[in-house]
Amino acid sequence: MTDDCLFCRIVAHESPADIEYEDDQVVAFKDIYPKAPVHVLIVPKRHIASIMEVEPGDAGVLGRCLLVARALGEAKGFAKRGYRVDVRCGPEGGQVVYHVHFHFTAGRPAHT
Ligand code: AMP
Ligand code: ZN
Repeated sequence: MTDDCLFCRIVAHESPADIEYEDDQVVAFKDIYPKAPVHVLIVPKRHIASIMEVEPGDAGVLGRCLLVARALGEAKGFAKRGYRVDVRCGPEGGQVVYHVHFHFTAGRPAHT
């Protein structure tokens, strides 16, 4: 838990969020400014600032995030149509919130 991190506060249920999934290591919640009909952020509960700082010990929880992406895709009916999972990394990658998150977007054709 990092006090000044918005997503740590959401993980701790201290800030409001529309939580779609939660287990012991991962939380998924709706993006507050959705860029697609379905836009969910999948985050590790443990604070990892960025993919740019990821370490070997983080591999397990990041893999768990991808399994949650698959489960969301199936639960929401996109298993065959497909969806996008992306991560922004650092200033030139467009990262705004420095707690690793996977954007799960679905429901419209591939976009840039
Ligand atoms: P990024 O540019 O990858 O760091 O994206 C940060 C994302 O977090 C953006 O898509 C925002 O819309 C989203 N976001 C910011 N604040 C909140 C919040 N309180 N609850 C849910 N999503 C948020
Ligand atoms: Zn955090």
